Amino acid sequence: MDYTSLKKELRTRLDRERKALSKEAIQDLSQQVFEKWRARFTLKPVAYLHLFQPIQKRNEIDTSFISDYARKRHGHVKIVVPVVNPSSEHLTHVELANDIEMEINHWGIPEPKLPFKKVFPMQMDMVLVPMLGFDLDGNRLGYGKGYYDRFLSLVHPQCLKIGLCLEQGKIESGLPAEPHDVALDYIVTEELVYRISGNNKAP
Ligand code: ADP
Ligand code: MG
Repeated sequence: MDYTSLKKELRTRLDRERKALSKEAIQDLSQQVFEKWRARFTLKPVAYLHLFQPIQKRNEIDTSFISDYARKRHGHVKIVVPVVNPSSEHLTHVELANDIEMEINHWGIPEPKLPFKKVFPMQMDMVLVPMLGFDLDGNRLGYGKGYYDRFLSLVHPQCLKIGLCLEQGKIESGLPAEPHDVALDYIVTEELVYRISGNNKAP
């Protein structure tokens, strides 16, 4: 089977399995992912933390544990969220000010309303990446539009690229990586922080 069909088949299976989990389970698992992330990484040197706003109908990991913690304990951190531009197939990155108004877009993703302050990919110190699946080489399976591959190809080489995923999305072998796929440095699940070999970035 070719790469495109294999990725498609994996996406369908992992998406279906994750959607079958209860909202309560997703909340518990999201909190456990947050705790693993907090125990391993520090926000002290981070000026810009990029994180995704979860698509609830897809049971994505709830990142509000992380943003609440960053706001409460690391007030210097600027939280940045993506806004989807379907015409260019690129993400715009926007500072999440406390008073900013949010709306749910066409894909169910909460996004800040205009006007907003843009941040460039090169400015990010840490990016938390949503995903459907991953393998132990740091390859990532997204929703199939390549938005994060385009974004991550533009961040600073020292930026920490951290995937957040449930163990349910772990693929032991056979996740196809294509030349445009950007590998992650770490993947955090409810059970473990996987450090991808070849990555010499200290957390
Ligand atoms: P995902 O990463 O969302 O799982 P894929 O890796 O399969 O999806 O990529 C989806 C599409 O996005 C591919 O057709 C690929 O050609 C395109 N794409 C990904 N990264 C880039 C890039 N840096 N420049 C141009 N097109 C890209
Ligand atoms: Mg990809």
